[in-house]
Amino acid sequence: MKEQKNVDVVILGGGPAGMTAAIYAARANLSAVLLEESVTGGLVNSTYTVENFPSYTTIHGMELMQKMREHVDSLDVEVEEVCDIESVSLEGDVKVVETDEVVYNAKAVILSTGRKPIPLDVPTECDQVHHCAICDGGPYKGKRVLVVGGGNSAFDESLYMLGIGIEHITLVEKMDRFFAAQSTQDSLLGTGKVDARKSTIVHDLVVEGDTLKAAVLENVETGERETVAVDGVFVFLGQLPNNELFKDVVTLSKGGYVVADQHMATNVPGVFSAGDINDKHYRQITTAMADGTIAALAAERYIRS
Ligand SMILES: Cc1cc2nc3c(=O)[nH]c(=O)nc-3n(C[C@H](O)[C@H](O)[C@H](O)COP(=O)(O)OP(=O)(O)OC[C@H]3O[C@@H](n4cnc5c(N)ncnc54)[C@H](O)[C@@H]3O)c2cc1C
Repeated sequence: MKEQKNVDVVILGGGPAGMTAAIYAARANLSAVLLEESVTGGLVNSTYTVENFPSYTTIHGMELMQKMREHVDSLDVEVEEVCDIESVSLEGDVKVVETDEVVYNAKAVILSTGRKPIPLDVPTECDQVHHCAICDGGPYKGKRVLVVGGGNSAFDESLYMLGIGIEHITLVEKMDRFFAAQSTQDSLLGTGKVDARKSTIVHDLVVEGDTLKAAVLENVETGERETVAVDGVFVFLGQLPNNELFKDVVTLSKGGYVVADQHMATNVPGVFSAGDINDKHYRQITTAMADGTIAALAAERYIRS
């Protein structure tokens, strides 16, 4: 039998939106539990430097999230990391969130599950495909990597990888131009260590045993293929919403993002949503925190009424 716990609010996802919601919920005297499938910090953990968070001209993403986590912990919020959420039932007055160990019965739920990277669509899988240079770039020092994507993330992360000693980068973009800021493009291409190709996709990967040996690239205009020796692949193709747990009950936009009103209320009474999972234009740490604030305060009002 799983342990049963009654709480005021369950927060799903421990990025800046979820942690801010936890802080506001605790300060409003609500019993709150924050459930995180990985470790708290969300996408910010993989951002090397944050330069637009008011009060710090520059700060490492992980450090900022560590400070936020310390704030959460100071308020005695229950935080469960590496938590396997098996099911959620949101429609009744009592919301039920079941993990592998505990069944939480809550008066309100805040959805703050953010987004996940779009995967590389190739037939061959291997362990050397990554989505975060800060997290996984270290072992490729002195080696050659393939970067997939031509936007700001791809160029920024490539600069970071050259900075930590990666020897050479092949960067491919499907469209006929790169989308990163011109100054970032100039910085990266000026290093002389990058072979950047437009109109190019990854056709497949060449793996021997468990080890990646090369990538087969294809020019989408000519159909020409070329095999390029690489030790690792870093994919920066954008993000998709983490909506699997609630997509059948909460109203979503065409793109799969949660449709919430100005109080972060969803179509389901007692269910609020915050941060990047919401259907909105500007996805930043500050906007995620603003949503988390509103969601927690609105949840408090809902519970008290
Ligand atoms: C490469 C990159 C660089 C960026 N740089 C900046 C920047 O410099 N400044 C800035 O302001 N913003 C930046 N952003 C945007 C910023 O990271 C996001 O707007 C912010 O992290 C959103 O916070 P969030 O809490 O909504 O979502 P996330 O940070 O994505 O957190 C969501 C959390 O929910 C967890 N989760 C997901 N599914 C489940 C589930 N089923 N159960 C439990 N937990 C789950 C995830 O593990 C994650 O920890 C950047 C984004 C990217 C991709």
